[in-house]
Amino acid sequence: MAQRRQIRVSRSLDGGGERPATGYGEPEAGAPQRSERQASGAGQPRAGLGELGHGRMQGPARTMVGVTNADIAAVFEHVADLLEFQGENVFRVRAYRAAARTIGSLVESLASVRADPARSLTDLEGIGTDLAGKVGELLDHGRLGLLDELRTRVPAVAFDLMRVPGLGPKKAKTLLTELKLTSLDDLEQACRDGRVAGLKGFGEKTQAAILENIAFAKNPEHKRLLWNEADAIMHALLAWMGGCPAVRQIAGAGSWRRGRETIGDLDLVVEAVDAAAVMDHLGAWKETSAVLLRGETKTSVRGPRDVQIDLRVVEQDSFGAALQYFTGSKEHNVKLRSRAREQGLSINEYGVFPLSAGGADAARSKGRSRGGATEEEVYRAVGLPWIPPELREGGEEIGLAERAALPELVELGDMRGDLHMHTTATDGEDTLTEMVRAAIGRGLAYVAITDHGQRVSMARGLDRKRLLEQWSEIDRLNESLAADGRPPIVVLKGIEVDMLEKGGLDLPDDVLEQADWVVASLHYGQNQPRDRITARILEAIHNPNVTVIGHPTGRLINRRPAYDVDIEAVIEAAAETGTFLEINANPWRLDLDDRHAAAAKRAGVKLVISTDAHSTRGLDVMRCGVLQARRAGLEAKDVANTRTLAQLKKLMKK
Ligand SMILES: [Zn+2]
Ligand SMILES: [Zn+2]
Repeated sequence: MAQRRQIRVSRSLDGGGERPATGYGEPEAGAPQRSERQASGAGQPRAGLGELGHGRMQGPARTMVGVTNADIAAVFEHVADLLEFQGENVFRVRAYRAAARTIGSLVESLASVRADPARSLTDLEGIGTDLAGKVGELLDHGRLGLLDELRTRVPAVAFDLMRVPGLGPKKAKTLLTELKLTSLDDLEQACRDGRVAGLKGFGEKTQAAILENIAFAKNPEHKRLLWNEADAIMHALLAWMGGCPAVRQIAGAGSWRRGRETIGDLDLVVEAVDAAAVMDHLGAWKETSAVLLRGETKTSVRGPRDVQIDLRVVEQDSFGAALQYFTGSKEHNVKLRSRAREQGLSINEYGVFPLSAGGADAARSKGRSRGGATEEEVYRAVGLPWIPPELREGGEEIGLAERAALPELVELGDMRGDLHMHTTATDGEDTLTEMVRAAIGRGLAYVAITDHGQRVSMARGLDRKRLLEQWSEIDRLNESLAADGRPPIVVLKGIEVDMLEKGGLDLPDDVLEQADWVVASLHYGQNQPRDRITARILEAIHNPNVTVIGHPTGRLINRRPAYDVDIEAVIEAAAETGTFLEINANPWRLDLDDRHAAAAKRAGVKLVISTDAHSTRGLDVMRCGVLQARRAGLEAKDVANTRTLAQLKKLMKK
């Protein structure tokens, strides 16, 4: 039963693998399937992934090593790449990518799904009979005949090349045949020598972009889990550990608790009478694939998606101190400890002790702790109020706490509306009515429907005629919602227009004038130079019909850096014109990020936290945007969509 619950948790919490961005192909991102592949958690650019299938999953001799979901997702991604490289049927390619995405975001292991007589692998989204058979083959034999066969036909280096953002199978093929590359390093060298720029269809700009992307793909920072992926695992883990009778108190700590964009490993702090029983319980979790370390009161294991889980067991009077200590950040704790020293105190994971007491152990044994059972006690002992974890990055927070000037951070419950979402009219998965119904279910008072404008042809972007039709549909929907008196929600007529490569927007002003809400975003021409990109955005900001700039820097976490934009100029112009800036809550985007959002707040710009949902599940990522806003130190008053609709309309620039 518990297992079933976990699956549901993981699906609903991770936004169901909500696409990172653009579900359509951006010209510089290669073929359309490219962005789809990038949507997969398993599809992160990992140099050396080409080795999978050669190394750890080599043949039957290795089958006793548990085959993890991550392994299977990687194999499916690999198969999709190789099929695509060979120019195979796109539907077949997509089926493998979709399956990899489903499997990659699953918390529960496929082996346990298969072992459960009440269930079937084919219950999983995107897994049909054929793919279920392939999963079984991998679980049983640790290898896939199809992959072995494909590998004989495609050189291994092709796979690594296709992992570089911006290099689709077609370009990878050209590079291979023209330059006789054998590794990514070869490609890097070829770029440095200027040989890539000379190839047909490449040029100087592409060559520079490839170089930059190789560096990006090689950076180990870009292999970490997204926060919401880690969060799904944390929830399943807490649910499991909660079932251990020895546990008295339990909390997740580390960067997960601070709400960082990406997470390296998971930290758990437990108060228990019997440390061994707690550690045994973690070891017995179905999703624990290996115990990496075990001591008296701490253990580390490998969990779902190969994430390392570190568990510490402490006594009741140290629980808060341990939670504080393991929540970090390091920088925050260094500052806090130096403050303590100035006051003749020492803070460690057991509590706060007088420096004169001959060390923490001695002080502890004499019962001379000044506090440690709760985090509040720890902060109070050094004369500070409790500091929210999202602010503990070693910046200004201790000074602010000292002056009793900590911001009252915005909360999920403050959010009254969601002002960026898509429907089946363009690249969304659910209809207008379904999206609105889901928004009502989430307690929202207003939403804006913002499908793509016509520039986004791959997502069937709306032209004037279709947009006006959608708006009439929204009018009728609002009327029917208001039929029994007070409507549960108001639906705003919106649009996500594109800031065109050559300047201007993809829909004329006489149409935009009739909109309630206009998001302007930059999806194409992201490789343009800084002054061009900045000029395009500034032009949109100065358009009186544009309400908000969507995902203002265009970055995709783990996969694509921001485009080159003068963000200070954007913030300044937004402040001047009363244009809002978005914090896009999609966990792949979180754009603006915390620093830029804080800078926008300082400049007097109002932020809008939006989900950019492409499905009803996508509405759940609002909490990721709120976390980012909290890390930026934003209060409810800094966020426009915490207002009532009437107040929001007064804030808008028109
Ligand atoms: Zn967009
Ligand atoms: Zn959008």
